[in-house]
Amino acid sequence: MPTKFSRRTFLKAAGALTAGVAAVTTVPKKYLSWAEEAAQKDMKQIPTFCELCFWNCGLIAKVENNKVVKIDGNPLSLRGRGRLCGRGNAALGALYDPDRLKFPLINVGKRGEPVWKRATWEEALNLITEKMNLIKGKYGAESLALFSHGTGGAFWKHLLKSYGCSNYTAPSFAQCRGPRDMGFYLTYGSDVGSPEYYDFSKSRYIVLLGSHLGENVHNSQVQDITKGLADGAQLTVVDPRLSNIASKADRWLPIKPATDMALLLAWIRIIIEEGLYDKEYIEKYASGFDELRTAVQQYTPQWAETETTIPSDTIVKVAREMGKNAPHVCVGAGRYAVWYGDDTQRSRAIAILNALLGSWGREGGYFFPAKGGVPEYPGLPAYPPHEDVPKLDVAYPFAALQTTTSIKHASITGLPHPIKGWFIYGCNLMKTMPDKQETIKALQNLELVVAIDVLPADIIAWADVVLPECTYMERYDNINVGKFKDLEISLRQPTVEPLWESKPSWWITKELGGKLGLSAYFPWKDGEEYLSKRCEAGGIDFATLKKNGVIVKTDKSAPYITADNQPEFGTPSGKIELYSKQLEEKGFDPVPKYTKHPQPPAGHFRLLFGRASLHTFSRTTNNFMLADLQKENALWVNEKKGKELGLKNGEYVTLVNQDGVMAPGRIKVKLTQRMRDDAVYMYHGFGVHAKGLTRANNQGIADDDLITKYVIDPIMGGTAMRGNFVKIVKGA
Ligand code: SF4
Repeated sequence: MPTKFSRRTFLKAAGALTAGVAAVTTVPKKYLSWAEEAAQKDMKQIPTFCELCFWNCGLIAKVENNKVVKIDGNPLSLRGRGRLCGRGNAALGALYDPDRLKFPLINVGKRGEPVWKRATWEEALNLITEKMNLIKGKYGAESLALFSHGTGGAFWKHLLKSYGCSNYTAPSFAQCRGPRDMGFYLTYGSDVGSPEYYDFSKSRYIVLLGSHLGENVHNSQVQDITKGLADGAQLTVVDPRLSNIASKADRWLPIKPATDMALLLAWIRIIIEEGLYDKEYIEKYASGFDELRTAVQQYTPQWAETETTIPSDTIVKVAREMGKNAPHVCVGAGRYAVWYGDDTQRSRAIAILNALLGSWGREGGYFFPAKGGVPEYPGLPAYPPHEDVPKLDVAYPFAALQTTTSIKHASITGLPHPIKGWFIYGCNLMKTMPDKQETIKALQNLELVVAIDVLPADIIAWADVVLPECTYMERYDNINVGKFKDLEISLRQPTVEPLWESKPSWWITKELGGKLGLSAYFPWKDGEEYLSKRCEAGGIDFATLKKNGVIVKTDKSAPYITADNQPEFGTPSGKIELYSKQLEEKGFDPVPKYTKHPQPPAGHFRLLFGRASLHTFSRTTNNFMLADLQKENALWVNEKKGKELGLKNGEYVTLVNQDGVMAPGRIKVKLTQRMRDDAVYMYHGFGVHAKGLTRANNQGIADDDLITKYVIDPIMGGTAMRGNFVKIVKGA
């Protein structure tokens, strides 16, 4: 009898097919698997972990004559479980990119209009040392700042701390997940982890809002949600766009952009008023229920329909479905959360919804991660005391990490104290931070800009000194600790010698530290000794780690609440705070409230942007293996609306924003029913201006060229970027 095709049977079949591939043994000789061929040729197999996105999946490099010829997933890795995504598989494209930075460079021209002089490492590091000491002498050590993204950033942070500077920031906080982390932190006294503590594989009901899950291809998370859905979990996706994950959902709610808070508050109200919440859980673990109940009275489903355009009966239906499946429900916290400026509060609403459903610490909701870590290098001297200067983030009382926003502003205004030197490690700030002109103004005010990178990204043009780091395939890096239900410890180690004159960050910072008189903070002989001593201090067998790439330490405590495993909440009350006195004391709403946000003016669309499954933004758009598959982005336009405007599928257009800024370049129109008619959408990371990136240069349009306006989240300093509106200009 033929099996009826459904999404679930498809997912199950896909899983079986994947499993089957590994089991096939009787293939004709010409199709011998690569692993068998490698074994016959006696190739070296060296485990390390991927850096083409922060998920850091374990991989095994197959090396022949000091050349990586293939990579495979490391089956021991909890992040990848033996699999790599398309980007991860393109490691050779990153390693052997002819556009890589090859030698240290000194700009002998103007900042932003560089004239590069090839330098020796000695010359480049001497120049940086001289400038750092000059700046410290004039303004103090706290006038330097580090922007970093990626595993090697830890060595730079250590260098700056050793120098007496506490300004280290990552765009991943103020330009990405900071509001989410703080929203959950203010509610539970804990954030949601990275990778997140979602228990998707056991969920019975999942709700995602504006999520790029699937397009971000966060490896094990995608495997988990796939398993959850194949095992019968229902999925509701709220998004103005039919994203990849929405296409797998039972229900897609194409919400009017900027109204998600209305939907969340209505759901909270229904779940309370219909008694669908977990009464025992709330009684035992939460505080502020009565205040919450009173505060959400006004948010009826009918009211929410007028704001969101989602029918009220659908709103009620989804709330009931969540209630019915509680506590095995996961309302995803999201990741890229800087949307409209009230983002910490929106994340609080998500956290509160999960609390009402009793899903925190419950199977199918959010699990409790394994505890533990790896100790720091033993015997290092204490960092020097920081100078007594005003805190940069004083305006944002819940900025748990320093924000790029305040460093940028202090670089322009000198307030609350001047910032005069930037170290930029592995982050392309021209594409990361909103309002390029403001970023340029800050850069022009500095006395030193050092960029440490693998590729000549857009930001490189603004550096005085460029230090070429070798790729993740060629270096030792910091230890990576993953907190899943078990603890994962991963090692990055070189698979081949660094190409050209590129160097690892452990070496660069040690050399620079020596020149700055900080040798006592860098006692290790090399990267391997640094890592082996840390492992030794933590009782981890370094030889096994080197051989296997990953060590998993089983956590014996339960990942869920049990009679013997009661949760601890790091909030002031020791409970889940549905009503936040912490926020109230600082003048913020203790319970999230709905705020109306501006809607597009006539003739304009809201500009939405996100992730492509084949790229990690501008980090990979130049990768020859990935550019071959996708070299430019497209503009998603609602089909009906596009036709009304006379647009044709595939024609090139350009865009001009609400401030009259026209994006350089052109972008292909994609007419689709997968988009609402009040917004357009594009992948971020394209429209690269850096000439040195020969494949990525001028391919598509950069959303970041059009983000001239942003709203700061007053709670934690995040920069909301979804309030920009664009007009489509034909004839590009
Ligand atoms: Fe690499 Fe893909 Fe894993 Fe990210 S998800 S670390 S790009 S293999």
